[in-house]
Amino acid sequence: MPLSEFDLIERYFRNCGARREDVELGVGDDAAILQCPAGERLVAAIDTLVEGVHFLRGCPAASVGHRALAVNLSDLAAMGARPAWALLALTLPEADEAWLAEFASGFAELARLHEVVLVGGDTTRGPLCVTVQILGHIQGAALLRSGGKPGDALFVSGTPGDAAAGLALEQGMLAAPAQAQYLRERFLFPTPRVALGSVLREYASACIDVSDGLLGDAGKMAAASGCGADIAYEALPVSQSLAQAVGPERARELSLTGGDDYELCFSVRPGDLDRLLTQLPPQRWGYTRIGTLRAAPGVQVVRNGAPMVLTHAGYEHFARSR
Ligand code: ADP
Ligand code: MG
Repeated sequence: MPLSEFDLIERYFRNCGARREDVELGVGDDAAILQCPAGERLVAAIDTLVEGVHFLRGCPAASVGHRALAVNLSDLAAMGARPAWALLALTLPEADEAWLAEFASGFAELARLHEVVLVGGDTTRGPLCVTVQILGHIQGAALLRSGGKPGDALFVSGTPGDAAAGLALEQGMLAAPAQAQYLRERFLFPTPRVALGSVLREYASACIDVSDGLLGDAGKMAAASGCGADIAYEALPVSQSLAQAVGPERARELSLTGGDDYELCFSVRPGDLDRLLTQLPPQRWGYTRIGTLRAAPGVQVVRNGAPMVLTHAGYEHFARSR
């Protein structure tokens, strides 16, 4: 007997995620009722994943559930906000129970980790598409893209490029190296940097999450701040797994241009640097200085003191391009 929409919601989406006292009314009525902590402001973001566009057909359902929430958590992390509640609009070609169970568990596991609960949504029939809206709250100033100034130090968390290699492995476009599983996991189960974003409110002048590639997203943050950025090629953090999989040159290129990492890129005023580095040790918090904001617009990658030019195929060293 096919699962009714009511049964589907009851089975997989009621009590999905953490338990929260601030949910006056969750899944089941016409709308949810939530209590925002007194004196804090609501922070909201939404993201859609379309099969064949944002995830591969036949991709593990747990990964789809995880990523649909992770990309939203990453947006809140970039604001320095505390995530609390999520809504899920799910369009399914059929009520495949094995798929749904896996999807819901991938979503719920990450939700519990961040004390987030699913409080409502919508379920429709059609080509597979997942939209998650996240709601959170913040006390005091948020981390904006626009707060950077020339001279601010530029940082990135984690090792960007890993997820792009993981996707290439999933697509069979890259031969599997010894640590293929690590790279695959970085694509399938990204780690939103919620704790880092929250503490950075005390240190960073601007912040953005890296979803479309470090170069592009650092450029967006710099432009929103009315400046540009110099990135030091040699400083780009690259994981051992990525370097082994694609070689050190291609690894750095992927760290600049690969997408889907969900790391944080942020800037810090010179006067706040000592405090940042002593109070949030980079090794413990997993971030690296990669450059500096500058007055001139655009992002320049500097290698051995010379700017590199970026081409459609990737980039080449400036000196060798002519
Ligand atoms: P309505 O017709 O009023 O929109 P629905 O039948 O769509 O009601 O939904 C019933 C309840 O189930 C609502 O509380 C709604 O928020 C919740 N819900 C529906 N689909 C989902 C889903 N995919 N995930 C979480 N909650 C859902
Ligand atoms: Mg509905």
